[in-house]
Amino acid sequence: MEKKNIDWSNLGFGYVQTDYRYVSNFKDGAWDDGCLTTDANIVLNECAGVLQYAQTIFEGLKAYTTEDGKIVTFRPDLNAERMMDSAARLEMPVFPKEKFIDAVTKVVAANAAYVPPFGSGATLYLRPYMFGSNPVIGVKPATEYQFRLFCTPVGPYFKGGVKPLTIKVSDFDRAAPNGTGHIKAGLNYAMSLHAIVTAHEEGFDENMYLDSKTRTKVEETGGANFLFVTKDGKVVTPKSSSILPSITRRSLLYVAKEYLGLEVEEREVYFEEVKDFAECGLCGTAAVISPVGKIVDHGKEICLPSGMTEMGPVTKKLYETLTGIQMGRIEAPKGWIHVIE
Ligand SMILES: *Cc1c(COP(=O)(O)O)cnc(C)c1O
Repeated sequence: MEKKNIDWSNLGFGYVQTDYRYVSNFKDGAWDDGCLTTDANIVLNECAGVLQYAQTIFEGLKAYTTEDGKIVTFRPDLNAERMMDSAARLEMPVFPKEKFIDAVTKVVAANAAYVPPFGSGATLYLRPYMFGSNPVIGVKPATEYQFRLFCTPVGPYFKGGVKPLTIKVSDFDRAAPNGTGHIKAGLNYAMSLHAIVTAHEEGFDENMYLDSKTRTKVEETGGANFLFVTKDGKVVTPKSSSILPSITRRSLLYVAKEYLGLEVEEREVYFEEVKDFAECGLCGTAAVISPVGKIVDHGKEICLPSGMTEMGPVTKKLYETLTGIQMGRIEAPKGWIHVIE
């Protein structure tokens, strides 16, 4: 198969229209068979549920080429399950796991020419999503929905090398204790835009959100979970019912324990403790782990001992082991790698 003529290593993270996407509609209580289409546009009624009351959820995962030339995706079953949880919380119909995996497989196979070659550092980002599509004016769940999955090639995350991030302790809240912070819904992002634009204007890369009830515990950023390393090499991640269960973070904890023999703790993390950690990173599909160099709390700086030029040693080992598993250099736990072709 001939690859598209794309300068893979210089791609950014933006939308590039590809040839095929998957569409399935839910009507009269059932999903249709679903199919691929070349049409990238959606025509909706002006009163569609998603447009009025933001009934929409999404996922994010990537397809890439391994060292031995296979096109694969990483743990798509977990994205399928998380989307089922998101749907249930927003009173949307569940899109079955087998259909989700089938959509992933079909879209990647149909757009194989857009899967970046091994070594380019680029990946094919997949975006499954679902939204209420029929007219809704009284506040209630839609009765018709559309599930779609498109893909777009994205460039290497650490272009020009790793650069530790500077993050700000935000005065805004991301999620309420019994709210929707644990699901991947557009609404969580709409309300984070003002906070991230403000942080960027002030020169910060990201926001650290604290728990909105007591403002004493670390939650996450707008789109990534925190991972800390203690001075004695223990891996610690915050536990809270209002953070999004990152698949990368869950995979890293497994790798820390089972591959690297590190002690791991998933527990409440008080902001007070952060100054005592040796390393800090942000976990998510896009970067796997981005190191954090500095955390600023209203002018008070916490400088992580790992510094502002490289990943800390434990973060680096975690990064290399998980990306090694993803790329096929290190044997993966059973079921982690989904081969497309
Ligand atoms: C998607 C997302 C993450 C990262 O999850 P991964 O499954 O690792 O990509 C973390 N936090 C939030 C709020 C997210 O939406």
